[in-house]
Amino acid sequence: MLRHEMAAVGRYAELLARCRGGDARPIARIQAALITSGLLRRSVELHDALIRALASSGRPHAALPLYAHLLRAGLRPTPHTLPSLLKSLALSPAVPGARRLALAVHAHALRLGLTGFLLVNNALIRVHAGLLDRLPDAHLLLRTSASVDASTFNTLITAHARAGRVADARSLFDEMPTRNVVSWSAMVNAYVQAGDGREALLVFSRMQDQGVSPDDTVLVGVLAACAQLGALEQGKWVHGYLKATSTRITVFLGTALVDMYAKCGEVQLGMEVFEGMKDKNVLTWTTMIKGLAMHGRGSDSLRLFSRMESLGVKPDDIAFIGALCACTHTGLVDKGRELFDSMLNRYGIKPKIEHYGCMVDLLARNGLLSEARDMVHKMPMKPDALIWGALMAGCRFHKNVELAEYVIKHWIELEPHKSGAYVLLANIYSASGRHASAKEIRYVMRDKGVEKIPGCSNVEIKGVVHQFIAGDLSHPCIKDILTKWYEIDTRIRLEEGYIPDRKEVLLDIEEEEKEGALSRHSEKLAIAFALISTSDNTPIRIVKNLRVCQDCHHVTKLISKVYGREIIVRDRARFHLFKDGTCSCKDYW
Ligand code: ZN
Ligand code: ZN
Repeated sequence: MLRHEMAAVGRYAELLARCRGGDARPIARIQAALITSGLLRRSVELHDALIRALASSGRPHAALPLYAHLLRAGLRPTPHTLPSLLKSLALSPAVPGARRLALAVHAHALRLGLTGFLLVNNALIRVHAGLLDRLPDAHLLLRTSASVDASTFNTLITAHARAGRVADARSLFDEMPTRNVVSWSAMVNAYVQAGDGREALLVFSRMQDQGVSPDDTVLVGVLAACAQLGALEQGKWVHGYLKATSTRITVFLGTALVDMYAKCGEVQLGMEVFEGMKDKNVLTWTTMIKGLAMHGRGSDSLRLFSRMESLGVKPDDIAFIGALCACTHTGLVDKGRELFDSMLNRYGIKPKIEHYGCMVDLLARNGLLSEARDMVHKMPMKPDALIWGALMAGCRFHKNVELAEYVIKHWIELEPHKSGAYVLLANIYSASGRHASAKEIRYVMRDKGVEKIPGCSNVEIKGVVHQFIAGDLSHPCIKDILTKWYEIDTRIRLEEGYIPDRKEVLLDIEEEEKEGALSRHSEKLAIAFALISTSDNTPIRIVKNLRVCQDCHHVTKLISKVYGREIIVRDRARFHLFKDGTCSCKDYW
């Protein structure tokens, strides 16, 4: 190549570098010019520059034919060619032959001796873990590579987390020689995805101990963990940190903050963040709409939904779940029907099973049990456990034993080994005086080997999340907790005439043990612990994994009155705000 040609190559390469991350059209124009001038087929550097520019443009697949062009021209790929090419491949999973080409590139890399280059190696691992979906191969590459760095590990940690293998992700994380903020973030988010918010927060606090400054991604993960756990103090800490460091609140951070506040029982603080956000996307709106609905603020939620519509933000199917929930919590049956119809008629969104679930819940809750049952019949999909559960809740509240029996038959077919349906049916029998039938359920459950998911409640005290499992007496303060419980029990019996509702104890416990077992339900232990460890007037916040049982619900109301405490319980489905002896759910849950 002549000197002036070499200079031209340099100029074009620079020009292409400037096109990265933008529109693909100028790149295509440059490419055409390079082909006409004959420069392209003589320069691997220009191929590299073109592939790299296209890989980060809007049309990554346009980079793929360039590789064949390069080989046909008799040029030899360099360590710079392959990473961008593999990136383009990963971004074009729908292109026919993309997977085959990825394997071919791997073979070329081996033959050309390029696998020793860190960038090539990392790109190969990424493509095996992602596009090719061959996690074991990616793992093998990590084990057999001469050169790996933090980003190699980060790729694999994220890939394992995505595949639901959080323990494998953790062992990779533990063996890393050096970690960067991306590694910490990958691990925090891996635990969040696995629903283990406690472990996510532990990883985050270790990260802080080691003096690593958090980035947006890790903070979004931490906020999600706080939302899972109801860990308000730690969530507030993140918010304070963002303010103190004057971090720009991006849409993702803002939405995560709104979600955290709503799920930690502070929907008003969530609203403040929401109103202060300059950029919002449909997810931000949806999060706020759902948050208000969960807190029983149905009309505020619906007002927000209309505001979103009037601003031209097109609601998605999740926004409709929020709006329908709002109708449910406010008893707005007609508005709910109208919204449900508008999904398809106005926005062309086909209702999913969740939307039918909301409608069944709305109708059943308001006593329209036969309409609810018709809805279940007319659904285009097979009803799931949530649908039957919603219908069942209506049967329980409105004491319709016949429909309950019908529901249970279908529900148990779907979940023969879970206890929820059986326990509800037993409660309905007991409540309507059919004790023999209730007892029979005990035998059915035993014969079928029904598993009971233990109740588990979290309570955050001074920034530490304490976990209580029903009947588990392993907490270090358990002696004090039981003494406190004894005091609570005595006070609510004497002052409010409380008698334990023994129907709710799972039915395979002997009579005399029943009361004891009832008093060890996880939220009771958590509330007793919170009463010892917090000062008067502090609201108590509990997050529970199951539905709150009738007895605990009753007891919590009494405690809120006798001790003058606000108690906020988030159970599997909604928030209960207990205050002065009443609950915000109006006893329907
Ligand atoms: Zn209970
Ligand atoms: Zn309630």
